Amino acid sequence: MIVVFLGPPGSGKGTQADILHEQHGFFHFDTGSRLRAEIASGSELGARIEQYTNAGKLVPIDIIREMIKRFFSASDAGRIMFDGFPRNLEQARVLDESLLEHNVKLDCAIYLEIDEDSLLNRIVNRRFCPQCGDIYNLQSNPPRQAGVCDKDGAALIQRQDDTAEVFGTRLTVYLHETMPVLEHYRKQGLLNTIDGDFDIGEVSKAIVELLGV
Ligand SMILES: [Zn+2]
Repeated sequence: MIVVFLGPPGSGKGTQADILHEQHGFFHFDTGSRLRAEIASGSELGARIEQYTNAGKLVPIDIIREMIKRFFSASDAGRIMFDGFPRNLEQARVLDESLLEHNVKLDCAIYLEIDEDSLLNRIVNRRFCPQCGDIYNLQSNPPRQAGVCDKDGAALIQRQDDTAEVFGTRLTVYLHETMPVLEHYRKQGLLNTIDGDFDIGEVSKAIVELLGV
C-alpha cells in the first residue's frame, strides 16, 4: 500500500505520520530527513545536496528523483507513506513517474484539512525538543512536566518560525504550492480529505479507517 500524506504546517501531520509508522508499520519517506541522512552518510550525492541546503536553496528535482529511487530500492514495497511529499506539482509528476518505473500504484492521497485559526493556535502553542525532535503542544499534547521533554528531560524550545507572522507566510506559500497537488490527485480519484480539527486520537482513527489497516 502506498500513501501520500499531505497537510499544512501545524496540521498535526507529523504526529499522524509517526502513528502510521509506529503502530501500522508504514515505511516512511520524508524529504527533509532523507536529505539529512544522505548528507550524514558522507556520500557524493550527500555532498551535492549539502551545497544546496547550505546556500538555503531548494534541492533540484533530479536529486529528489534519485532519493525516491533509492527509497524504493531499499523498501520492500509493503506499506509506504510519503510524508509531506509531493510539495508541488513538479514533485507530484516525478513521483508518478517513479511509481510507474517501479511498477507500483498510489493507493490514496490523504489531505489533513484544518481551519486557519486552529492552525495558528497550534503553531504558537507548539514546543520542540532539540534533543530527540519530539513535538509537543501546550494545549492538545503537553509534556508531563511543563517545559521538559517526556523522553529525555531536555528543555523544550519554541522554534523561531513558529510565530504568528512567520506562520502566515508559510501557510500562504504552502497552500499556493500544494493546491495544484491536491487537484492532481483529485483528478485521479485518489484524494481523501480528513478533518484535522479533532484530537490526535480521533484523527488517527479516521485515517486508519480510511486506509483499512
Ligand atoms: Zn526529547
